[in-house]
Amino acid sequence: MARALITHAHSDHARPGSQAYLCAEPGAGLLAARLGGKANITGIAYGQTVSMDGVRVSFHPAGHVLGSAQIRIEHHGEVWVVSGDYKLDADPTCCPFEPIRCHTFVSESTFGLPLFHWPPTTEVVADLHAWWIANQHAGRTSVIFAYAFGKTQRLLAHLDTSIGPVLVHEAAHRLLACYRAAGVPLPPVAPATDENIRRIAGRGLVIASPTSDPSALLNLSGPPSTAFVSGWMLLRKMQRDRGVGRGVGRGFVLSDHADWTGLVTAIGASGANLVLTTHGYAEPLARYLRENGRPAEVLPTHRG
Ligand SMILES: [Zn+2]
Ligand SMILES: [Zn+2]
Repeated sequence: MARALITHAHSDHARPGSQAYLCAEPGAGLLAARLGGKANITGIAYGQTVSMDGVRVSFHPAGHVLGSAQIRIEHHGEVWVVSGDYKLDADPTCCPFEPIRCHTFVSESTFGLPLFHWPPTTEVVADLHAWWIANQHAGRTSVIFAYAFGKTQRLLAHLDTSIGPVLVHEAAHRLLACYRAAGVPLPPVAPATDENIRRIAGRGLVIASPTSDPSALLNLSGPPSTAFVSGWMLLRKMQRDRGVGRGVGRGFVLSDHADWTGLVTAIGASGANLVLTTHGYAEPLARYLRENGRPAEVLPTHRG
């Protein structure tokens, strides 16, 4: 592509190979880190408008991860907004979601089923701290599996690091400089090298890659207590409450996507008279919107 407009630097939304990239300014460093040094990237401030072939384009906070944006496109008075991924819950690592009025709203729908309802973040973080402290009493290292970009940094911003030492996996650690450069306050943490893991064994917390090999950790730290942090953990929690599914570590429900109420709220706030759903439970969400008087269709997109 000659020009790519990027909502955020997650790999299912930002691919290498385009000649030029435009994104929101707070995400430019992250995009460069993810796409590699040669990519031609321009960042513009949230709310600033640029003209391209008679089309007005601007980026507005999506509340998903640092630098994430909804893209507003205006042509002859017709306004479309492409959401990218978004959430309405507060996140200390990025600007809050900003509702933008438009005619057509392209909405993600990752958690577009009514059963997805997030517990309050303070509750989740308190449970996570209690789990960490209980693991310390049992002499076990706490290992949390979380995405390198976004989730890891949000966890860091919430963690009480007076409980014990925290390590983060190296891919996530490399991105911390981008966060600090953007003015996001994060506690000082070391990378999860073999040597560091041995040093904090039995009392520390390691934020590991979801793809990392738990048996490698076992050799370094003894048998760890493991947990996943994701919106999908709600499904595991529901299974557990019904007495099925066990033995694969704890699940903490913390998502960087809107839950059902968040999606419906954001769509309502857009005032759009057409909603195009994509990227998840697109069909159930579109059907619900239509049944409630708002024209909606599924927009087929390529999903990484
Ligand atoms: Zn994303
Ligand atoms: Zn996505």
